Amino acid sequence: MNKFDLAGIGMTSQRTRDRLVRRLTGQGISDEIVLSALSSVPRHIFVDEALAHRAYEDSALPIGQGQTISQPFVVALMTQTLLDQPRPRILEVGTGSGYQTAILASLPGLVSKVYSIERLLPLLDRAQERILAMRCYNVRYRHGDGYLGWPEDAPFDGILVTAAPRSVPQVLLEQLAPGGRMVVPVGGDEIQELQVFDRTEDGFSMQTVEYVRFVPLLKGVRQ
Ligand code: SAH
Repeated sequence: MNKFDLAGIGMTSQRTRDRLVRRLTGQGISDEIVLSALSSVPRHIFVDEALAHRAYEDSALPIGQGQTISQPFVVALMTQTLLDQPRPRILEVGTGSGYQTAILASLPGLVSKVYSIERLLPLLDRAQERILAMRCYNVRYRHGDGYLGWPEDAPFDGILVTAAPRSVPQVLLEQLAPGGRMVVPVGGDEIQELQVFDRTEDGFSMQTVEYVRFVPLLKGVRQ
């Protein structure tokens, strides 16, 4: 038992996570493996200590640098939509707090390795520390511009974009393996369509699942 559990915080947060999972089930999240990842990944370590008591509310929260950790429902929906089938190698664009990364890396049987890109170095460093603290070692990190993808390790079985481009980056579509799927919020600042692209034999098919609100996908990197 660690210091955390002795203080009772570990147990309390497990109970609050179980409550969150029940709520998500009521909102239509049905994939057991995804729900089990949301039940086990401690979201409170991905937000600042001052906000930890709000970590299991179903809302986005600030993570510094003008960015936000996504709302649990949106994380669950995007993860479930991406993983309609096992997709061993996943590219994530927009590491942010690392919470979505940790969920993707905690889906045994569905995902084996996650490649995650973030343009803001302080966020990437902090995310990496948190994920390592969870003893999660199947993630590779890159400080870079997600618009360029990760060409050296492409193609990917799945791509999840957690910031919104105005239109779908072709470069990312081209880094999908045949049969691969990309989930991406596309649109302007106020509202975006969550779009799903499947790479078929003769091109791509697209469907829209939901309306969402993400921070914009910006070009270039910052130290
Ligand atoms: N999945 C994250 C969401 C973070 S918000 C979480 O759950 O915490 C989106 C992130 O995308 C921000 O950290 C932002 O800096 C990053 N981002 C925006 N444009 C980017 C780009 N071109 N390449 C890589 N990361 C980008």
